[in-house]
Amino acid sequence: MEYDVVIVGSGFGGLCSAIKLKEAGIDNFVILEKDEVFGGTWRVNTYPGAACDIPSHLYSFSFAQNARWSRLFPRQDELLEYTLGVVRDYGLEPHLRLGTALRSAQFDEAAGRWRISTSKGEMTARTVIFAIGLLGRPSTPQFAGAERFRGQSFHSAQWDHSIDLRGKRVAVVGSGASAVQFVPEIQPLVRQLDHYQRTAHWVLPRPDRAVTRIEQWLLQRVRPLQLLFRAKHYVQFESRVVMFIFLPMLAKFMEWQALRHLKRQVADPQLRDKLTPNYTLGCKRVLLTNDYYPALAQPNVAVLKDGIREICEHGIVTGSGEERPVDVIIYATGFDVEHAYGPIELRGRGGCSFAQALEEGAGAYKGATVAGFPNFFMITGPNTLLGHNSMIYMIESGVRYAVDGVRRVLRGGLHSLEVRPQVQAAYNQELQRKLKRTVWHTGCNSWYLDSRGRNLVIWPGFTFHYRHLTRRFDIGSYIARRAA
Ligand SMILES: Cc1cc2nc3c(=O)[nH]c(=O)nc-3n(C[C@H](O)[C@H](O)[C@H](O)COP(=O)(O)OP(=O)(O)OC[C@H]3O[C@@H](n4cnc5c(N)ncnc54)[C@H](O)[C@@H]3O)c2cc1C
Repeated sequence: MEYDVVIVGSGFGGLCSAIKLKEAGIDNFVILEKDEVFGGTWRVNTYPGAACDIPSHLYSFSFAQNARWSRLFPRQDELLEYTLGVVRDYGLEPHLRLGTALRSAQFDEAAGRWRISTSKGEMTARTVIFAIGLLGRPSTPQFAGAERFRGQSFHSAQWDHSIDLRGKRVAVVGSGASAVQFVPEIQPLVRQLDHYQRTAHWVLPRPDRAVTRIEQWLLQRVRPLQLLFRAKHYVQFESRVVMFIFLPMLAKFMEWQALRHLKRQVADPQLRDKLTPNYTLGCKRVLLTNDYYPALAQPNVAVLKDGIREICEHGIVTGSGEERPVDVIIYATGFDVEHAYGPIELRGRGGCSFAQALEEGAGAYKGATVAGFPNFFMITGPNTLLGHNSMIYMIESGVRYAVDGVRRVLRGGLHSLEVRPQVQAAYNQELQRKLKRTVWHTGCNSWYLDSRGRNLVIWPGFTFHYRHLTRRFDIGSYIARRAA
């Protein structure tokens, strides 16, 4: 089969791309999804307490607002339900190819087509929109002896709901964004919870609450109120960027707030000491929770800071040599961002490898295109992730740019459209220069930095600046070849 566009991934990025292609009058496309169900992040991460850290009215498409959110901060099941509604309302079902994983794609220079191989067969496409997300590959550290463990273990992003945790001795390895959500949920169920914490995180109160019936009623009937609600949250979250990028010393005020939150919720000074971070707030993701600290203060919880020496048959040996028996190990150890595109083999012009091009070229252009890979557009590509606001805003910006690029290839009868290498290099040089002055480069060891210390993850600016950069396709930055 030949398509005008093949979209890879059915998370918010893939679905938004599909909707905007249809609006642009482009209908000959498919959405490849490796799993049997669409939805991306919020279908995969089903751990107890899974929820978004951005308010519902902002963490949703601007063009598909929902007046019926039940809470200010959406939970995983409600987000999944929202995506189901989007797929139905925009008629995307016929385009979805579920259980179809992209295995490899190679640009055929003679034909000006991508030759695509999937788990269910071959296809060709004039253009590709690559929306597989950066947080899709769970990362589990290789502890010595892990293979000897006789109990059960799983990663929080692959939660094993068949395991009953009631009355069990559970070890939670990692204390980041996922752990702070599920630890309060499982703590009352388990006999003993050993919480292995490498670094204490900055934690602020989560201003979550139910959206009242009256608010829902008003939001349904008065559309400007929806926009106002969204705008209020946008400004509130966007203002944090001033601190992260321009004035890291403003973090002191938020650090004071976070320490006050800790003091109010944890009475034991020794535990408080363990939970006090030793880096500038914002350098790692700031966590929002009201029930994490109270859970850690319960008598069946131990916060362990001396690391893991090895895993044995029936437990974990800590860094100080103590053997602690456990029945279940839950890894809340995040994602392998550096190898996010992992097993997919992408080859561009002259057979060049995508992984190598990203590695050597240190990034992409506007997080969307890469020199050597014509007619190929990424959503949430390098340096588009946020530490402070809604990714949906970034996704909508990236999609507008990608769809404009696709439109130019198809309508302009182009053989290929490829970013100029020198434009991409200058863009990344400037990006890395900006990043050096931000809070993410103040010395902490975060997943935003790769093994070489480069930050190919974070967008170092206002999100409206990214929107401005992507408002239309800057064809002058590209080499456009006409079809013969
Ligand atoms: C636990 C967690 C919490 C988060 N919380 C927040 C938050 O509070 N605020 C925020 O803004 N962002 C948050 N994020 C980031 C979140 O990932 C983005 O907001 C957004 O959902 C990304 O959408 P996406 O479409 O780019 O990627 P994804 O949602 O990851 O979707 C990618 C899709 O591509 C599919 N895919 C992958 N490889 C292939 C292949 N080879 N072939 C076919 N299909 C493939 C995957 O199965 C998946 O369905 C969170 C992420 C995680 C993991």
